[in-house]
Amino acid sequence: MTARILDGNAIRDQIYAELAHEITALGSAGIRPGLAAVLVGDNPASHLYVKSKIAACEKLGLASFLIRPPATISTADLLAVVEELNRREDVDGILVQMPLPKQVDAKKILDAVHPEKDVDGFHPINVGHLVAGRPALVACTPSGVMEIFRRSGIALEGANAVVMGRSDIVGKPMALLLLHASATVTVCHSKTRNLPEVVRRADIVVAAMGRAAMVAPEYIRPGATVIDVGQNVITDRAEAERIFANFPEKLETFARKGSILVGDVHPDVVNVAGAFTPVPGGVGPLTIAMLMSNTVKAARHRRAQAAGAAVR
Ligand code: NAP
Repeated sequence: MTARILDGNAIRDQIYAELAHEITALGSAGIRPGLAAVLVGDNPASHLYVKSKIAACEKLGLASFLIRPPATISTADLLAVVEELNRREDVDGILVQMPLPKQVDAKKILDAVHPEKDVDGFHPINVGHLVAGRPALVACTPSGVMEIFRRSGIALEGANAVVMGRSDIVGKPMALLLLHASATVTVCHSKTRNLPEVVRRADIVVAAMGRAAMVAPEYIRPGATVIDVGQNVITDRAEAERIFANFPEKLETFARKGSILVGDVHPDVVNVAGAFTPVPGGVGPLTIAMLMSNTVKAARHRRAQAAGAAVR
């Protein structure tokens, strides 16, 4: 049995095509949604993430604003940056790229983002709305996973879903979204006993632990849907050879680049699962797509009243 591949790039393209219509409708009402990205310091990985978010804005015709405070900025000065963005009429979404330098109180900064502009869905008000099942700006990665289920026709009602990981940005919101979709949800973490046994009960597995290829074929009930959120960079040759023993083309990539991206799910799971998301090309593209979608949604909610019913 070889699993059906859930193609994140194709789903992202569908979402972008739909957003393009919405952006045109907003444009004819005089609204151009705008995303402000705050990138503190020179962390190369953060730089890359922000660059791809700005590129997505440009591709879709959204306005984007890159704010680059120095790595030495204080909490008070960064709060002033966020407050200025909260006041700006042309900014609908604010994202503060993590991690922030040690001297900055990250929680204070995230809490300062106006909930209506919180396109990452991290503000406690938006988290509370998610818990209560009210419309809200929801964290991008779990929202993207829900789009994969919906657009791939994977039924959630009554399904046994196991979420591996309980972080605030992936595991917890993922579990809540699955619960609201009427799945029976189990959340696992580093203290979970008999993990493989618990995961084997699942019709739906979402792996978000940051543990390279940990979810082995014996964790998976034959036919289950497996969503791999993990993104781990492997640089050790022996580890790459162990993980990709049955995937010579991946080993070639490793030999060429000296590193390779691997999810939390072992690639051999393809022989057991019913459907799965590849890494790369699965969940990753959806995270940025949902950031774009949240920015458009935020613009619609905040500015539609002024523009009238045409953009609703
Ligand atoms: P995180 O904050 O480090 O949380 C990891 C979670 O996994 C924790 O709840 C931890 O349990 C649990 N865990 C760790 N080791 C475990 C083990 N051996 N058995 C069971 N549970 C274990 O990570 P995160 O931010 O949620 O990210 C998770 C992964 O997703 C990372 O690889 C990250 O790079 C990736 N990610 C990808 C995207 C994307 O766009 N594709 C977006 C965000 C994150 P405890 O709570 O008990 O410590």
